Amino acid sequence: MKRLRVLTVFLVTFFLTACADKSLPDNIQFADNQLYKFLNGYITEEVMYFSHGGRGEYYFTPGKWTDKSMQKLISVSEDGLKFAKDWLGYTEEKPIAFIFGNKKYKSKTNPDSFIQGIWDGGGAFEGEVFINMSNKLTPSIIVHETTHSILRMQGRMSNFPLPNENGPMFLEEGLCNVIDYLFFLETNHQYDTNRYGKSKENMENYLHKAALKMFKFHKNFENEDEFGAVYPQLMSYETAASFIYYLLEHKGTKEDFMRFFDDINLMEDIYGANMDTMIGEWLKFINP
Ligand SMILES: [Zn+2]
Repeated sequence: MKRLRVLTVFLVTFFLTACADKSLPDNIQFADNQLYKFLNGYITEEVMYFSHGGRGEYYFTPGKWTDKSMQKLISVSEDGLKFAKDWLGYTEEKPIAFIFGNKKYKSKTNPDSFIQGIWDGGGAFEGEVFINMSNKLTPSIIVHETTHSILRMQGRMSNFPLPNENGPMFLEEGLCNVIDYLFFLETNHQYDTNRYGKSKENMENYLHKAALKMFKFHKNFENEDEFGAVYPQLMSYETAASFIYYLLEHKGTKEDFMRFFDDINLMEDIYGANMDTMIGEWLKFINP
């Protein structure tokens, strides 16, 4: 009887060990809640799993991860990184670190966690992308944030005006939205279905439709305190993205646009019309 019990215990232990080994795919490693430093040591995060992808490095902070959810994020990030790099003509091999949070987890050992301060969103620095969302909203915004990160790696900063002192860089936000949308449109990934839907059909006017909704929502961008006096119609993610998409589809090449992005004073040289004229043309196009 006693021998049988020992054998049972041994079998149970063996079974559990086998399961634990099996539960992690080859490409993902267990990090045992170590504290990792990011952003030159300014950000400390607990890491539960990590993975070295071909292009990116992946860090998963504690949360409800499954193999499937992690693999999906890795796969979309690998392809998204390539897509954004190709689009922006960034050829260096330097990897980007992706730090993923699982919205519901609150850390006890790392109360100052940066990623836990993000709520269904993300942030990007040079070579680092932070995204914290619930599993049901992913994969999304990966390409948007990756685009920010690559622009920092390229040392690119547009001189497009800000709506006010602390306002976002809307031309850059618009560009990130455009590349994110093109990734959805031009690859087979089920990407950001929450925003774009599940089908790619009838999606060619998506950005322009989203811009028109913003005109309604922001009452034609007439509030100068909020939108500034210079190109107020472009002071939102959606309207900037729609304007950029219009330039890309109807006015010139990607390279033309990036020259304009770097220095908006070149508008007339590149496109043969000044900003006000071009904004007028675009408005007529999206809302004839
Ligand atoms: Zn952004």
